[in-house]
Amino acid sequence: MTQKWKENIIKIKPYKAGEQPKGDGVIKLNANENPYPPAPGVGALLRGVGSDRLRRYPQIDGAELRRALAREYGLDSASVFVSNGSDEVLALAFRGFFNSDKPVLFPSITYSFYPVWCELFGIPFRRVALGPDLRIHPCDYRSENGGVIIANPNAPTGIALDISEIDEIVSANTGSVVIVDEAYVDFGARSSVELISKYENLLIVQTFSKGRSLAGLRLGMAFGSPELISVLDTVKNSFNSYPVDSIASAVGVVSLGEKAYFEMRARQVIATRERVSAALRKMGFSLTDSAANFLFITHADLSAAELLEYLRARGILVRHFSAPETERYLRVSIGTDAEMDGFLSAVSDFLQKGKQ
Ligand SMILES: *Cc1c(COP(=O)(O)O)cnc(C)c1O
Repeated sequence: MTQKWKENIIKIKPYKAGEQPKGDGVIKLNANENPYPPAPGVGALLRGVGSDRLRRYPQIDGAELRRALAREYGLDSASVFVSNGSDEVLALAFRGFFNSDKPVLFPSITYSFYPVWCELFGIPFRRVALGPDLRIHPCDYRSENGGVIIANPNAPTGIALDISEIDEIVSANTGSVVIVDEAYVDFGARSSVELISKYENLLIVQTFSKGRSLAGLRLGMAFGSPELISVLDTVKNSFNSYPVDSIASAVGVVSLGEKAYFEMRARQVIATRERVSAALRKMGFSLTDSAANFLFITHADLSAAELLEYLRARGILVRHFSAPETERYLRVSIGTDAEMDGFLSAVSDFLQKGKQ
């Protein structure tokens, strides 16, 4: 019996998200989730969601949420797109914008979903090496390509480019679409959103998941020229014309309205990040200069994989990427101060154990 039909089945290794353990008492620092609750108005809204909102289909184009985002970012609604999480925005953007025989460029160390979408959609790609400092160097993005995607701040390094460096990358690539994935921009980096009025081929992607503590809701957005946004609408409407449900849309609008709360939580995460960075440096770790809600840490005297297992046994989850260029590092999300103290004391115990 031949199994020739199997030749026609997609061969792809899917993206693997950080695990979501059941059970209490786990310190979960493996998915870059916000340790703080979403804005208070979100809970109030959800308690009052009536069934009439659910009886009808949602607005076809997410118009209400788009308008709220446009107001918040000082843009025209025609420059705003919304979808189910920025992962879906990115998938639609890859499908819509990366249709060349030339390779799409992205950094060798970055969000590991990018190569997965390329494989899913049959898009050629080339990974561009980071510098030895683990930084993205704009001059490396000048070769012929079918598109460019940069996470800024990058993941899992946390290092941010400044807006002049993003400008340099876009201006060198006016022949293709450049996507800047700003999933972590809320923790101190500067957004490049203002560049969309300068470049019609620039798409900025953001999310409610990290800065606004709404990862479970699945709400992401993109900002770009009306031309790019209408392509995203076309791809979306060729696939599923109702991508953002009524509740998610209403929650998004409420969350945008509570700006002071959102900024207060971001400052809290940043303060914890800086405190934990200093403590880890004192223990002999090297860290990249993170502008995100996670740290990328390594230690000359220890194995990251062993530390990962030790922490796991103590109920502390962090992330390890086993590719050769990242296997000496751990990515540690910033939790509450109490969670981070638990993490630091476990790391300290591990180092003591090694000395005995
Ligand atoms: C978390 C993350 C996303 C996806 O966020 P969602 O909006 O939750 O889908 C996209 N890009 C990067 C770099 C991320 O880390």
